[in-house]
Amino acid sequence: MERVALLRSLSTRSTSVCRRILFRPRPRPRLFSSGPHRCKQQAQFLYGAAAFRWQPATSSAPPVRLRRYLSFSPSAVSTSPQPAAQDFDAGHDIAEKLGFDKISEQFISECKSTAVLYKHKKTGAEVISVSNDDENKVFGIVFRTPPKDSTGIPHILEHSVLCGSRKYPLKEPFVELLKGSLNTFLNAFTYPDRTCYPVASTNTKDFYNLVDVYLDAVFFPKCVEDFQIFQQEGWHYELNDPAEEMTYKGVVFNEMKGVYSQPDNILGRASQQAIFPENTYGVDSGGDPKIIPNLTFEEFKGFHQKYYHPSNARIWFYGDDDPVERLRILSAYLDQFEVSPAPNESKVEAQKLFKEPVRIVEKYPAGEGGDLEKKYMVCVNWLLSDGPLDLETELTLGFLDHLLLGTPASPLRRILLESSLGEAIVGGGVEDELLQPQFSIGLKGVAKDDIGKVEELIMNTLKTLAEEGFTTEAVEASMNTIEFSLRENNTGSFPRGLSLMLRSIGKWIYDRNPFEPLTYEKPLQSLKERIANEGTKAVFSPIIEKFILNNPHRVTVEMQPDPEKASRDEAEEKEILQKVKANMTQEDLAELARATQELRLKQETPDPPEALRSVPCLSLQDIPKKPTHVPTNIGDVNGVKVLHHDLFTNDVVYSEVVFDMTTLKKELLQLVPLFCQSLLEMGTKDMDFVQLNQLIGRKTGGISVYPFTSSMRGQVDPCTRMIIRGKAMSGKVEDLFNLMNCILQDVQFTDLQRFKQFVSQSKARMESRLRGSGHGIAAARMDAKLNVAGWIAEQMGGISYLNFLRDLEKRVDQNWDELSSSLEEIRQSIFSRKGCLVNVTADEKNLNHSTKFLAKFLDSLPNSASAELDPLRNHLPPVNEAIVIPTQVNYVGKAGNVYEAGYQLNGSAHVISKYIGNTWLWDRVRVSGGAYGGFCDFDTHSGVFSYLSYRDPNLLKTLEVYDGTASFLRELELDHDSLTKAIIGTIGDVDSYQLPDAKGYSSLLRHLLGITNEERERRREEILSTRLKDFKEFADVLEAVKDRGVVVAVASQDDVAAANEERNDFFDVQKVL
Ligand SMILES: [Zn+2]
Repeated sequence: MERVALLRSLSTRSTSVCRRILFRPRPRPRLFSSGPHRCKQQAQFLYGAAAFRWQPATSSAPPVRLRRYLSFSPSAVSTSPQPAAQDFDAGHDIAEKLGFDKISEQFISECKSTAVLYKHKKTGAEVISVSNDDENKVFGIVFRTPPKDSTGIPHILEHSVLCGSRKYPLKEPFVELLKGSLNTFLNAFTYPDRTCYPVASTNTKDFYNLVDVYLDAVFFPKCVEDFQIFQQEGWHYELNDPAEEMTYKGVVFNEMKGVYSQPDNILGRASQQAIFPENTYGVDSGGDPKIIPNLTFEEFKGFHQKYYHPSNARIWFYGDDDPVERLRILSAYLDQFEVSPAPNESKVEAQKLFKEPVRIVEKYPAGEGGDLEKKYMVCVNWLLSDGPLDLETELTLGFLDHLLLGTPASPLRRILLESSLGEAIVGGGVEDELLQPQFSIGLKGVAKDDIGKVEELIMNTLKTLAEEGFTTEAVEASMNTIEFSLRENNTGSFPRGLSLMLRSIGKWIYDRNPFEPLTYEKPLQSLKERIANEGTKAVFSPIIEKFILNNPHRVTVEMQPDPEKASRDEAEEKEILQKVKANMTQEDLAELARATQELRLKQETPDPPEALRSVPCLSLQDIPKKPTHVPTNIGDVNGVKVLHHDLFTNDVVYSEVVFDMTTLKKELLQLVPLFCQSLLEMGTKDMDFVQLNQLIGRKTGGISVYPFTSSMRGQVDPCTRMIIRGKAMSGKVEDLFNLMNCILQDVQFTDLQRFKQFVSQSKARMESRLRGSGHGIAAARMDAKLNVAGWIAEQMGGISYLNFLRDLEKRVDQNWDELSSSLEEIRQSIFSRKGCLVNVTADEKNLNHSTKFLAKFLDSLPNSASAELDPLRNHLPPVNEAIVIPTQVNYVGKAGNVYEAGYQLNGSAHVISKYIGNTWLWDRVRVSGGAYGGFCDFDTHSGVFSYLSYRDPNLLKTLEVYDGTASFLRELELDHDSLTKAIIGTIGDVDSYQLPDAKGYSSLLRHLLGITNEERERRREEILSTRLKDFKEFADVLEAVKDRGVVVAVASQDDVAAANEERNDFFDVQKVL
């Protein structure tokens, strides 16, 4: 559950300011990442924050390319130049007294940190204590939890331990922390062989509160005594009335049903299990919905007792707090245990290499009807070695991965997509998160007859690359990209200390040196020298040959579309349930109905105030009274408005150039996303796109182009802009602006073949978004019915866009000339000095240094004035809609505009909507409804208040919960503590931790949307002075959503049919997959 999400600043929605989740926390940050196409979802999150925040494709979603660079996020520490100094020697005597042996200590220059490894003498628990000057402190406790079957024990346990503990005896301390702490990260993940519990905060008092709740949760959870927690989070039979049908319920059960509805996920799981048939990776730690109901409470308890023990724990502390205090907190917990045999029993055994390649075929649920011919997927996977590799080999493999797949210009990726054998890449390239590294690559959207050709193309391409090597330009571009990201060390909203922890734990968990993955400098330099001395071929060819071409441990996974699979699975489940029910006596059934009732009653009964008070909370005195200030200087360069943000950025210059998009004709709108991709991936007269991409890689830290759309409060017309965003080291700012200029003006829209690939890739991406983030699609659709900005966004990123792409795919060949001139027309109408705005973030010296290059760039922009157009005023018809897809779980949304109902914005709305999400919706939609998530969102710019659910077994029942929100607020009783908690939690969201580039960017968006500092201060005061009466008044506002809101559900055929029968054609039905 990544809760990175709740994040919304006062001022902006649909912008990166407000949604931390933009930068999707990656459970597996690595030194090198091969990009957005990875299909393996190896870790399950406790809370789907990533999933919970939808991002219209057209808003400021950080450009995929840029995001990829950001996610390299290698090493940590501080935006300030000075390393921290800590008095360690004094600390070590105390460590000894507190019961810890110091094993080793190292200064890690890559992250300007001192790291000490301790062992707890009594239990053998290992602790790494990292000290530096990063205020974003991180704690994590990790247990090795290799499963023996696919009942999902580790995953269910991960959810359950956060449901109350000895010291915090309430239903969900985790939710109380979400409500009322200043956390900058709070979540838990289950990997195939380990479970991690990380927290982060910049406030020391808050940080230690979080640490204490997490430590008590993992060591002394209530769930091992309370069967009902196991039922709620894992699985149980639900029977409301002995006469009705019985169903399965459970949060993890439904979460995994959602996972098993997504072809990419099924492929990832099938590949992993086939590569590792003999060890723990051959089963699913997340849980297979068909197998989860085999799990007993006894097994569940036994697993906790065995593995959640200090002897099997690895603990991480990081940041600028006192290292002695950390050990003091830990010893209080660890000293309560004796040593256990857990560490030996939890050791992960290696998979031996195959002698022969293997081939498997899997089916995935496809929609009924429709063309299934080009719906096959094929992925070729290798297990690279029978044991762990040394660091230098791993680094070389990571580098090779970037060379093969890292950018659109990388040869393996490019050749596969150019072949037209498939629509999009699958497989994540090199995976080095588990005991043994793997390599996976393939295509989806493949015709049955072409499967063999894809495999052949992969093998032949790799063979050719081994024979011929890579060009110097390609290697230089990869090297610069990697070094830039190492230097920039930008982890987005993901705490740097957590990114480091996950990297370290990837070795530590296998009893290897935990510091090794943090010190990349030496092996990187030696790799660079080897490339310089021996040439790229001598370095990479033997690696490709040894680990891939001559490696018999190869598994080819073929995925076939099966239109009957979804309904067959459902029928199978029904049959099992009917059998179980048939074997029950009348007494059993009555007992089950009683138990169902009892569980629901317990779930819906609020915790007593004394239990709630056990969770420590800050007081309002701990909260800064003023919003965070971002220095902003508004000036003028050659007649263009320029915003300067003087912030320390370690010599990186960040810049955004913003153009007006209202000058664009309506009929061209849907081409905009493809236009943006063409700018970066089509090439100019002098450079093909490979050369252009390599040049971007060699000179900059990345460039992206994307549209941005939002409503503006109090105005009819929305803000619609196009943004080109880039970053470079200060010595290369001239190159950055030259490249921006080249992208905006010199790219030629003449490559039909490339354009066709963009269309099919975009279509494939939209289709997988529908299955994986149906709530985002539903939200965009509702917005499109309620306001113009929403309509524009949906045209460029919703169902309307998918329909457009499908139609375009058919006519692109015959209409190419017209399309090509339309792309040119978009350029002409948008890129002009008129209406342009520039944002630059760097320190003063670099701001000054970059101005002359910016001036030159602005001079070269055309100064054309576009024809005046009538403003767009479109909406989709406000009817209730069901989007039917093959799925076992639904996404249900309802939304209405509260400004139209007369509501005047007040900061209290943030407190109230967060509170509704964390109480009413969490309890009813997730806890008792069995959905993975239920939440609400208030767009303060448009006034749209929306409810959404995620991986939801219900449909109409969820709508009833939404409609009950107003009554919930009216009847609400809120004591002083709960109110304070709600306020503090909201401030935590508003003050979300931001690295300097994000601060500058947020400030730009506030400028675009007309949010002043005075307004931010006023909203903050309103948040801080929120009272119970504000909640009651908001009930009337939500009454309007209940009565006049629109409903959009992305749901299964059966559930939609049942709903339409029950409610008399409530939904207009559209079948899209
Ligand atoms: Zn989960």
